[in-house]
Amino acid sequence: MPKAKPLAPDQQAIHATLALDQPWLWLNPNYAAPQTCDITRHDIDDAAARLQRFAPLLAQLFPELGASSGLIESQLVSAEAMHALLSAEASQNAEIPTEFSQAIPGKLWIKTDHQLPVAGSVKARGGIYEVLCVAERLALDAGLMTEADNYRVLSGDPARQLFSQYTLSVGSTGNLGLSIGLMSAALGFKACVHMSVEAKQWKKQRLRDQGVRVVEHVRDYSSAVAAGREAAEQDPFAHFVDDENSKTLFLGYSVAALRLQKQLNEQSVPVDREHPLFVYIPCGVGGAPGGITFGLKQIFGEHVHCFFAEPTQAPCMLLGMANDFNDDLTVYDVGLSNATEADGLAVGQASELVGGLMRPILSGIFTVSENQMFRHLYQLDNSEGLQVEPSAAAGFSGPVQLVSSEAGQRYLLEQGLQSIMHKANHIVWTTGGRFVPPEQYKKYWERGESLA
Ligand SMILES: *Cc1c(COP(=O)(O)O)cnc(C)c1O
Repeated sequence: MPKAKPLAPDQQAIHATLALDQPWLWLNPNYAAPQTCDITRHDIDDAAARLQRFAPLLAQLFPELGASSGLIESQLVSAEAMHALLSAEASQNAEIPTEFSQAIPGKLWIKTDHQLPVAGSVKARGGIYEVLCVAERLALDAGLMTEADNYRVLSGDPARQLFSQYTLSVGSTGNLGLSIGLMSAALGFKACVHMSVEAKQWKKQRLRDQGVRVVEHVRDYSSAVAAGREAAEQDPFAHFVDDENSKTLFLGYSVAALRLQKQLNEQSVPVDREHPLFVYIPCGVGGAPGGITFGLKQIFGEHVHCFFAEPTQAPCMLLGMANDFNDDLTVYDVGLSNATEADGLAVGQASELVGGLMRPILSGIFTVSENQMFRHLYQLDNSEGLQVEPSAAAGFSGPVQLVSSEAGQRYLLEQGLQSIMHKANHIVWTTGGRFVPPEQYKKYWERGESLA
């Protein structure tokens, strides 16, 4: 239902534009505005150190992590063939003739979180981190170990006995549930996942196969989160992973920035005044892209430019940030349905915690149509041999929109970047897909093929 309060004219214009259900690049008017923040680089380093302490345990629990000594990380790969396809698209789409109308300047990379081990999506970063935080606190409080011990002690009977008394629960559109559920089960916790209506059957089955309780909700993500939160409140032995409000999740995601910095160094990719870095990340409730962006801005400051991708039917972070989270608006309030095949992004109302943190550091948000997403999913497979789920294909419209839209050109001009764009690096973050069953993936691919 539309809210009664009258809107400012510029907000009306934004709502009207969103209601068109068309791809759009919104620039954040508060980018680079001064703002204080109580999360610091120290918190990110602390999270990274915790993941390091857990690494020996994870390597033992998940043989697939042997090669990385227990760290859950993805590769940064260069993507020349996909770059060529996106450049062709940008030159066709150009709203105005520009010096970049022939190609996307710079170099294209893909941060392949769709390959992340254990959970198969970006949720392996935040979700698993929060489960580990709970396990560490319980074990320290119970005197089972100290921070200096080898955390493999947590796979022993006393720890498992302790953990088995507790239930970890979460509300999810699918992937967060997978990551929390699989990690909880591996440590011996009970787990309960409240799944929203979008959640794919195979994600629920994968959890049930691990002994995780799955509660199916007929309503959307926000309702599933609320139901999970309420159920956990009644139970002193329950910990609810609150995707809308958790700083812990956020910090788990932020560690990605330290890992990426190392990978950029290894590949001799500079990020400085002469070499701007652009990063494009799909956004649902905001925790994953928000945490990653926060970490990147801590490290690279004004030299990194971060953009979020949202489906045209579910631009919840755009709506929230454009209204400064004033009216508690959902995408339904502006006449949108929240219906998208990008289940990881099917969120009607974004995290206000994350939105507030993004206010001075996020460059903008672009919206993506279903057809664009599926076409890019198909092109990515054909050009680079990478197989992702629809949510994870949303970022590829970013570089296209940056160079072919009027708003994108304005951003480059205002930031004084036009003359150095040929030295830019673009990173598209592919956020999930490793565990998509082949028959499901084939349907996605065929839909993309029919559009290409
Ligand atoms: C959850 C998810 C996102 C977005 O993360 P949020 O924290 O919800 O913003 C992006 N892609 C995939 C595949 C996801 O599962």
